[in-house]
Amino acid sequence: MGSQKAPIAVARGDGIGPEIMQATLDILEASGAQLETHEVEIGEKCYLKGCLSGIEPETWETIRNTKAFLKAPITTPQGGGFKSLNVTVRTTLGLYANVRPAVSYAPFVETKHPNMNVVIVRENEEDLYAGIEYRQTPEVYQSLKLITRPGSEKIIRYAFEYAQQQGRKKVTCFTKDNIMKISDGLFHETYEEIAKEYPDIESEHWIIDIGTAKLADTPEAFDVIVLPNLYGDILSDVAAQISGSVGLAGSANIGDHGAMFEAIHGSAPRRAGQNVANPSGIILGSVLMLVYLEQMQAATTVHNAWLRTIEDGVHTYDIFKEGKSTEKVGTKEFAKAVIDRLGKSPEKLTPVSYHEHDIKKHKSQAMETINVTRDLVGIDVFVFDKETAENFQKKLINRNYGSFDLKMITNRGAKIYPDGHPETFCVDHWRCRFVAKESTKQTQRDLASLIMQLAEEGFDIIKTENLYNFDGKPAYSSAEG
Ligand code: NAD
Repeated sequence: MGSQKAPIAVARGDGIGPEIMQATLDILEASGAQLETHEVEIGEKCYLKGCLSGIEPETWETIRNTKAFLKAPITTPQGGGFKSLNVTVRTTLGLYANVRPAVSYAPFVETKHPNMNVVIVRENEEDLYAGIEYRQTPEVYQSLKLITRPGSEKIIRYAFEYAQQQGRKKVTCFTKDNIMKISDGLFHETYEEIAKEYPDIESEHWIIDIGTAKLADTPEAFDVIVLPNLYGDILSDVAAQISGSVGLAGSANIGDHGAMFEAIHGSAPRRAGQNVANPSGIILGSVLMLVYLEQMQAATTVHNAWLRTIEDGVHTYDIFKEGKSTEKVGTKEFAKAVIDRLGKSPEKLTPVSYHEHDIKKHKSQAMETINVTRDLVGIDVFVFDKETAENFQKKLINRNYGSFDLKMITNRGAKIYPDGHPETFCVDHWRCRFVAKESTKQTQRDLASLIMQLAEEGFDIIKTENLYNFDGKPAYSSAEG
């Protein structure tokens, strides 16, 4: 082994994965990149052996002992208790920042947006991806959305640091905090706080729906976009597709202790085994990896050869356009075309040149301890009942609940007591809010005796959620949302 070779873990993945990975490894080898590859098997084959996580325990050691992980897409079997391997790898290794550049290559790749150059910085560890889900009643299923202050701080700071280092001018935040005032509200509030520390970088916030419409229409108005996990997943596919093809974008998953590089697209099983898939996403993912490994020369060589291939019109089916493209090629032929151009630069597209300062290795900072007072002031009790709204509330109202008052009942968030409306559609899942009579701190015992009373009265309790005041202010959603 050459002493300067960087050990990397490589997973060939599922569907089109093995084909696009082989293309990438061939290009990396021909480019002179100093890599020592350690292959690991993850995904479908592991799932089929009965491993629910899609990764064998010993594989973690290989990934841990290498400097980076180059991973082809994986097919996550649907249902059956299988956990998404991508999510497992990202969260287990603490890869909190998912960096996804979406760039257009006009006029060589057809796009309505010739001047697009956006980097999406997607939070990678939390939100609905925690995968905490329950079926609570015959009719109701729940998925828990978790947004944390440390998670939001880490990703937002990363986005500003990235923008600063890459000479980008603006960081935009997308959330839906007009609806999710507490969870997305935290992300937005954290963004506003951190933006103040970077006065040289323009900052702005958009509600995700209109923000996405604006991105799809005028992507050149955006530079770096930071957003929670699920929105980031959706938005980065939109961004890649409108830049030319979802098959064009690579992605870096960065943490304090390691990094994983991949394409943004999935395993496209319908295209597998036909030598048609565009390997560009994972090739550009491998360029991000070479930069991370500080192999700037190889990163520059591969990226420029790839740009030249695109500029020469050598295109896979997804970006091929009669009259614009010169040659329609398969996965292998595309890789060969890139290899033939190693050492060449594009003549019309802007060539790249990577330098030491392009390495993004800032460590996330230790978070300040949050000092707030926290008072338990009530409880939401979720009950399963097939009754109508009218009959259900009759069971609950005008009763004595000790130190609590029944404040409201909602169904799917819509208020049915007090002052409900007969038109409100109801399912078999009721939220009953009990608030302390005096707005004084309650104890767990007070809650337990209320639950005991409800259980003895025959209510079928699915779950409870405590209500807290933080620094004296209610920290739970009101009936009106
Ligand atoms: P997908 O991205 O795999 O494919 C959607 C469509 O996009 C394909 O049918 C194809 O028309 C096109 N496409 C995607 N990649 C392409 C490429 N390289 N070249 C040319 N065309 C390409 O999305 P999907 O069909 O929703 O997901 C398939 C599987 O991939 C699922 O099991 C999903 O869980 C998994 N997935 C994995 C990852 C990952 O490993 N990081 C990411 C997303 C989806």
